[in-house]
Order: sequence, then C-alpha cells, then structure tokens
Amino acid sequence: MNTRRDFIRKISAPLIALPFLKQWQEEHVYDGKVLRVAIMGLGSYGTRVAEAMKESKKAKLVGVISGTPSKISSWQAKYGIPEANCYNYNDFDKIKNNPDIDAVYIITPNALHKDQAIRVARAGKHVICEKPMALNAKEGEEMIAACQQAGVKLLVGYRMHFELKTLEVVRLRKEGLLGKAMFFQGLSGFRIGDPTQWRLNKQLSGGGSLMDIGIYSVNGARYMIGEEPVWVTAQETKTNTEKFKEGVDETIQFQLGFPSGATASCLSTYAMNGLDKFFLNAEKGFAELQPATGYGPIRGKTNMGELTQPHYTHQAVQMDEMADIILNGKKPEIAVDGEEGLKDLKIIDAIYKACKTGKKVTLK
Ligand code: NDP
Repeated sequence: MNTRRDFIRKISAPLIALPFLKQWQEEHVYDGKVLRVAIMGLGSYGTRVAEAMKESKKAKLVGVISGTPSKISSWQAKYGIPEANCYNYNDFDKIKNNPDIDAVYIITPNALHKDQAIRVARAGKHVICEKPMALNAKEGEEMIAACQQAGVKLLVGYRMHFELKTLEVVRLRKEGLLGKAMFFQGLSGFRIGDPTQWRLNKQLSGGGSLMDIGIYSVNGARYMIGEEPVWVTAQETKTNTEKFKEGVDETIQFQLGFPSGATASCLSTYAMNGLDKFFLNAEKGFAELQPATGYGPIRGKTNMGELTQPHYTHQAVQMDEMADIILNGKKPEIAVDGEEGLKDLKIIDAIYKACKTGKKVTLK
C-alpha cells in the first residue's frame, strides 16, 4: 500500500539528488578524443577490465580478439561490439585495415604476450599488455623494438601506478617528507588453487608466483625506494613438488640492493593467503600499505597519519590515464611504458638466476 510518506519520499528524492547529480555530471563530462580499445583474451581479468571500462571517460571497449566464439557473441551482445571488430588469434593481423580500433589490450597467458604484441604493433595499433610484459628481458626488448619500429606506443597494465594512496607515498618520498628511503619490505602472495591452470604450466606462465604476483613487490620496491637496484640475492623454497613442477616457483624470497645503499627484502608466494603488504622505512618516517596491490580499497598510513585518498576502480582510472598517454602524450607520475616493464623483467631474470646459482647477481 502506498502511504503519503512514500509519496513524499518519491517526489522529494530527485529534488534532493538533483544538485549533486548536476555537480557529478559537470565533473564527469568529457568531450575529448576517446581511445577505442579491443581486448585480446576474454578471461577473468579481461572481463574485469571490460566492466571497469564502462566507467572510463576516455577509453571505450569497441572490439574483441578471442579463441572462444561463444564468448565473442556474448561480449558483442553485452558491450554492443559490431561484427567487424571481432577477431580470433589466427586472423587478428587484419585489424590493420580497421580504422575503428586504436589499441589492443593483451590479457592472455604470459607466454603469449610477446608474439601477440609484436603482431599488434605490426598491424599499426598501440599495444597495452598485461604484466608480466613478457617471459624475460630478451622478449621484452623485442617487443619494445617492434613497437618503436611500427611507431606505436607500448604500455604495461601497471594499475597501481595510478592508485591515489600509492601516489601519495611516492609524493611524500619524492618531496623529502619521509627523509631518505632506506628499506622496503614487499610481501606478495596468495594460495593458488586448481593445479591444471595455465599459471602452473611453465610453458604458458614462464615461471610461478614471481611472474604472477611477486612482480608487484619487484615493481613496488622500485617506485617506493625511487632507485633502480644494482644487485639481487634470492632463495627459493618448495613444499609441494607435485603441484609446483620444475621451473614453476612456489615461494621465493629476494633481496635488492640500491645505489644509495637502500635495500629491499621481499617475499613472493603461491602458498600463503592474505599476503599483500608494502612497508617503506625512511630516515625520518615510514609508509605502510596493506593491502597494497589488491583491487582495493588500498589502505595505508605513514608516521604522519592515515592515508585518506579516495578509492576509484583501478582499471577505470588506468584506462583513462592510458588514453591520455596514448592520445595526448601525457607523462604519468610513475612510468607504465615498455621500458618500465623491461626493468622488472631484468630483475626477475636476475632473481631466477640468483635462485639457481645461490650467488649475488649484479645488475647493470
Ligand atoms: P584467464 O585464464 O582468466 O584468462 C586468459 C584468457 O586468455 C583465456 O580466457 C583465453 O581467452 C585466452 N587464452 C588464449 N590462449 C590461451 C591458452 N593457451 N590458455 C589459456 N587461456 C588462453 O587469465 P587472467 O585473465 O587471470 O590473466 C591474463 C593475464 O592478465 C596474465 O598475464 C595475468 O598476469 C594478467 N593479470 C593481471 C592482473 C592485474 O591486476 N593487472 C590481474 C589478473 C591477471 P579467450 O577464450 O577469449 O581466447
């Protein structure tokens, strides 16, 4: 039964909401150029990116590249993707002749990134590639060269580089408010399930936890300390050799040394849940993020108090920022280009080498 109170509530709600709605719309109006993106690999993360892109003002999902026809038709229906913008892994070089797609976002298993990125570049489209950019530094260099040669941009899906609490810690460190960065601790891990998934198949993953989740600590150590490491030591441990076969790391601890004398001590694992923490100690203060790299909200504090920056959907912000980088040449606070991806791959190569040899590996 409708009461008078219901009636008043119904008519007054829009009146109350109106000024806020107007303000929201004004802040969110965007009439600039939009980056038209095709997603390659319609899996779990591709789906997350597609959903987030609905919130994006500067990037729009317009195409798909997939090996699964049923996914293509359901994505077409869901996102209004025209037939002309749908490809599979055999025919996507034809994207070269499609003027309605600007960039391809590669969200496939790690081992496929290099060849797919090179083919996208040769088709004249900008490349956005998920982390890890490739299996090793040599592959990363080939991708950078192909993109340079084709005159297209290469960006890596480092969503944390646009996250506001992360950026605040980097600002405090850069402006000297914490003093000189001395020590970083990065803990990155989760307990992996299904033993048959590609993440546990060396051919498709290129490794184990380090390639997948430990890379957040590798990358985080660099932007939190603000230097590039000059040496690496590392130790690998395995509790389940059936699940984590040869070449697939379950747990690795690694240490990085930086030119100023700062150090980092990190843990990468597929054997423990809830491991997502960054801690930076500097001469005058500290900063802590926990969770540090999940989908958010990220939480954090420094010796000066809680970090209160708002949470926005990471992938929506990332796509807006990447559109600005590609279309308008914007320079992000923390790089997300191929060179940035390559720096992490060189460290990952060194960590694997240090595990194997038991020796300290020097980085040039
Ligand atoms: P999924 O397994 O969920 O999806 C991968 C998709 O790739 C598949 O659904 C499939 O899509 C396509 N694919 C093509 N060839 C193969 C193959 N041989 N085996 C399996 N899949 C194949 O993986 P995720 O989405 O979780 O990960 C994809 C990439 O994204 C990885 O590089 C990962 O590191 C990265 N990632 C990044 C995250 C971030 O926060 N930045 C978070 C999660 C993942 P189709 O059927 O359409 O061909």
